[in-house]
Amino acid sequence: MSQNIPLVDLGAQHRQVADEVAAGWADILARTAFVGGPAVAAFEAEYAQYIGVEHCIGVGNGTDAIEFALRALDIGAGDEVIVQANTFIASVEAIARAGATPVLVDCVEDTALIDTDKVADAVTPRTRAILPVHLYGQAAEIEQLQANLPESIAIVEDAAQSQGARRKDAAAGALGRIAATSFYPGKNLGAYGDAGGVLTNDTELATRVRLLRDHGSPRKYEHTVLGFNSRLDALQAVVLSAKLKRLDGWNDARRRAADRYDALLKDVEGVVPPVVAPGNEPVWHLYVVRVAERDRVLAQLQADGIGASIHYPTPVHLTGAFADLGHKAGDFPITERITSEIISLPLFAEITEAQQQRVVESLVAAVQG
Ligand SMILES: *Cc1c(COP(=O)(O)O)cnc(C)c1O
Repeated sequence: MSQNIPLVDLGAQHRQVADEVAAGWADILARTAFVGGPAVAAFEAEYAQYIGVEHCIGVGNGTDAIEFALRALDIGAGDEVIVQANTFIASVEAIARAGATPVLVDCVEDTALIDTDKVADAVTPRTRAILPVHLYGQAAEIEQLQANLPESIAIVEDAAQSQGARRKDAAAGALGRIAATSFYPGKNLGAYGDAGGVLTNDTELATRVRLLRDHGSPRKYEHTVLGFNSRLDALQAVVLSAKLKRLDGWNDARRRAADRYDALLKDVEGVVPPVVAPGNEPVWHLYVVRVAERDRVLAQLQADGIGASIHYPTPVHLTGAFADLGHKAGDFPITERITSEIISLPLFAEITEAQQQRVVESLVAAVQG
């Protein structure tokens, strides 16, 4: 019997940082500084430096990070924010929660990134920001977006899936006015619970996000604006600092694994491998192939013990959550078509060549049906 192959293997990753996390946590427990404090400040400085921006503000999760980035830009009721229909629901939730109206657009077929021409068509006098999602670990084509837009429209990056990814020598998360990321456990840089961060070079925006995450409070019991409670815990900061030191190594291993899948799938008929846009150095948060008869193929992979999955099974415009945007099937044809074809194959830094061969064998057998 061969072993099951998970989509991601968080246990394998934990074993590499277990001692460092245990020591850091013992220190926090001894000092009982659980929220904020030196461990959080240290991680924020390390991550800002890693991405190449002035400020990283740790927050409670990635969805709040997007919401705070928008609120810091004073985006809310009556404003429109353009985002792609093929993303995790949180990208769009955060826009709605900030009080703004999400304006959905389609993606391009080969990369599944936001279609920059469709963005230009969707701009209205109310448009305040574009929220490109660096989906599956590769950066959106930001300079193409910027070229088509007036400067008054801010680019707010959803960098939840792109930690360490680069585009033309800049890091994803440093490409727009402000960026949001998530340190959910399954992300490339994951905490042991919920966590997120906002990234920017703009000191004024950073100050606003710091207020928003902490009850609108510049000093204890002083509340200058209406805020939230969404801070990064010290225990999570310890995990993130330990993992950040290893992130480049893990991302390199993911790239090698992606190259191996590419090679194994090169001559396989009926499987479309992922496409990387020119200028991008992705971090393969997900390795997403496209096949016909996807549901049957996926069921066969899963029956073979392979943790393949779909990201995401329902495009945002067809969810109940966004029914009030008034869309219907057919509104975003590329998104809808690829949604019916995509499969995310297991990919994590520690995946072995033998495991990948087994995934591909199962996939080939399923596709040949
Ligand atoms: C994970 C994710 C988020 C939200 O992050 P949470 O920390 O789960 O709130 C937002 N956008 C994308 C694209 C994500 O993958």
